[in-house]
Amino acid sequence: MSDDTPPVWRPETLAVRAGYDPASAANAAKPPIYMTSTFAYASARQAKDIHEAYFEGTGPEVGRPGHIYARLSHPGLDMVEARLAALDGAEAAAVFNSGMATHSAIALAHLRPGDSVVFSRPIYGGTNGLYTGLMPAFDVSHAEFTDGCDRASIEAAVEEALSHGPLKLIVIETPANPTAAIVDIALVVDIADAVGARTGLRPLVVVDNTLLGPLMQRPIALGVDLCMTSLTKYCGGHSDLLAGGVSGSAALIAPLRLLRTTLGSHLDPYTSWLLLRSMETVHVRVERAMDNARRIAEMLRDHPKVASILYLGFLPEGSAARAVYDRQCKAAGSTFSFAVVGGEAEAFRFLDRLTLLRFAVSLGGSETLITHPATTTHYALTPEERAAGGITDATLRLSVGIEHVEDLLADLSQALDAI
Ligand SMILES: *Cc1c(COP(=O)(O)O)cnc(C)c1O
Repeated sequence: MSDDTPPVWRPETLAVRAGYDPASAANAAKPPIYMTSTFAYASARQAKDIHEAYFEGTGPEVGRPGHIYARLSHPGLDMVEARLAALDGAEAAAVFNSGMATHSAIALAHLRPGDSVVFSRPIYGGTNGLYTGLMPAFDVSHAEFTDGCDRASIEAAVEEALSHGPLKLIVIETPANPTAAIVDIALVVDIADAVGARTGLRPLVVVDNTLLGPLMQRPIALGVDLCMTSLTKYCGGHSDLLAGGVSGSAALIAPLRLLRTTLGSHLDPYTSWLLLRSMETVHVRVERAMDNARRIAEMLRDHPKVASILYLGFLPEGSAARAVYDRQCKAAGSTFSFAVVGGEAEAFRFLDRLTLLRFAVSLGGSETLITHPATTTHYALTPEERAAGGITDATLRLSVGIEHVEDLLADLSQALDAI
């Protein structure tokens, strides 16, 4: 303990240790839940100093745990933000009451009328709604690319966006849902730098890291400005809460926290505590789920009733996507899709025969979930739009959980046999 150099802990250790100091709470070994909407000041002087620290970032209360009102910040939020920043390897993080509240805050913080955005496809339905439904009403235009490993495709989208107006954000989701499409993060950062050098305005690169999560892909180390994660998924991990977070430099995170006080989209004290607790075990859950997913993917690949499978672990050697995957992903994750032989009728017959797997949207929970994208998550798309996103009437998406793999394999096998 005499060595002043702080130890460099690995993410698995930080998931348990970062963000909470027992000395801050009567030496309770685990963090308490601070169920309060408001905070008492010790004196009139301190009240003024706390407001100065919050709004100006100056004065004697900077760096001290002073709080004002829970919509602005509260101890549970501070703890969960510190833990997320540590896991992402970032200077700071802001946590919100859902992944979409996080995406919305990023858009509202950086986009003004006349600006443009580039995003990758396929992209989460809510993000798609934000950039193609809501933001155009504020005169923000968008351009898209689908081949995220191809410089020319990304640059074409960037040029299209620049022809509409200043390009402020490049938003990428990788791997994407439900096709496991990969975007080359370092390539996108390089293209953003080139835009900056040419126009004097460098767009921010935002990665939606939900599908692999903080342990399996570390976008901050690859040079992105903001790493967004739906914490509802693997970090929450039990399908019992909604939350979202974004990490990056302190300079980029501070305005998002301030905007959150206007939007009122902070995470409440109880859910912050639940999330803090769940984050301690995220690596153990994700590792088990990924082991299960590989076994299931191998069984499905070899099954005569399965027509095709899109699993990151099966990306062909020598392909561009495989090279990018090997560079930027630590593992293949546990969410993937496959298609049964036949169409909707066969897919429905299979789904209705399952007894262990639950039929529900969402992903990243301890239990295995399965969905039929064409009639649920991607219902509102046209058949052509679905086909462009790799979704047919026979496509099913699996989010593999942590049950015993033999039980999962047995349930899937008996339902496939019934097709
Ligand atoms: C679920 C999800 C979101 C939205 O997160 P919520 O917490 O449901 O608001 C965003 N991006 C991806 C990739 C997701 O899977």
